[in-house]
Amino acid sequence: MLVEKLQNLSDAFGVAGFEDEVRGVISDMVSPYVDSYEMDPLGNLICSRDTGETVMLDAHMDEVGFMIRWIEEDGFLRLTPLGEWDERILLGHRITILTRDREKCLGLIGIAPPHILEPEEKKKVVSLANMFVDVGAKTRKEAEEMGIHLGDPATIHYPFQVMREGYVTGKAFDDRAGCLVAIEALRILSEEQLPYRLVVNFAVCEESGLRGAKAAAYRIAPKLALALEGTIGADIPGVPEAKQPVRLTKGPAITLADRSIIVRPRLVRFLEEVARQEGIPYQYKLPAYGGTDAGTIHQERGGILTGVVSVPCRYIHSPISMLILSDLEETIRLTVAFLRRAGELL
Ligand SMILES: [Zn+2]
Repeated sequence: MLVEKLQNLSDAFGVAGFEDEVRGVISDMVSPYVDSYEMDPLGNLICSRDTGETVMLDAHMDEVGFMIRWIEEDGFLRLTPLGEWDERILLGHRITILTRDREKCLGLIGIAPPHILEPEEKKKVVSLANMFVDVGAKTRKEAEEMGIHLGDPATIHYPFQVMREGYVTGKAFDDRAGCLVAIEALRILSEEQLPYRLVVNFAVCEESGLRGAKAAAYRIAPKLALALEGTIGADIPGVPEAKQPVRLTKGPAITLADRSIIVRPRLVRFLEEVARQEGIPYQYKLPAYGGTDAGTIHQERGGILTGVVSVPCRYIHSPISMLILSDLEETIRLTVAFLRRAGELL
């Protein structure tokens, strides 16, 4: 079931640079559908099938998170971001800290009660540097006895939930939604022979500067690449349509240009044609918001023809995200249809 697979991916821990748990979940899911898979020195999970010229799919495993940057004498923790957060919305959330012994500690980003704040203090945004995490330790020593150390990663604790039929919420849909598209494409195509070597890279460290995909694209040396993302759904009150990068219920989003790439029109036209032929609804992601692994992949190896297809997700880079399963399913259909015809671009 698609929902259970998304739940397993969303709930897995995988802060940028600490993707071990989510990589384990993904390798279990894809191993029946690929000829081989390996982990490179950075932690990218690189899965291959068939032979010939290479087509690369990329989806990043990592999620935005935090690292413990200091433990106070009185047992409170301080955080530094791994990836980009909106600091206005972090206060009061629970977090999961992954210790060196792979234990998970629950903490919460504490906040002074409104009763003791001056009126102007209530209007101020608290910066992450000034936030503190309460793990219930009275001293630094007690926090350390709980197994917490400097450099431990943390993520927002937000278990997956079905909101209503077809609507789901959880953390890290950016980019576990893209990971699931890649996994499902491998599953659906598992009985078909492809006229090229298909390599799927589940990338590390996208949220900290597209680093994993850069190394992987060099190693894989594809002729053609497609990055799969969970991207900025902003069809919400107060945002004019002209500023909504993508909208939910409108199907997969094809990128024309973002801050990291201007997609070759030839590839955009090809994706449109594939979608039209299959009767798959699609939308454009409005230029030029955000950036993806495509930004680094297309600059490798003397230049690689690279595009981006995304699942619309609301509230990414916040503690929660939300998507509509029909958008996810249509993105899987488009990716499968693209892969069936990708040989035409080689
Ligand atoms: Zn992403």
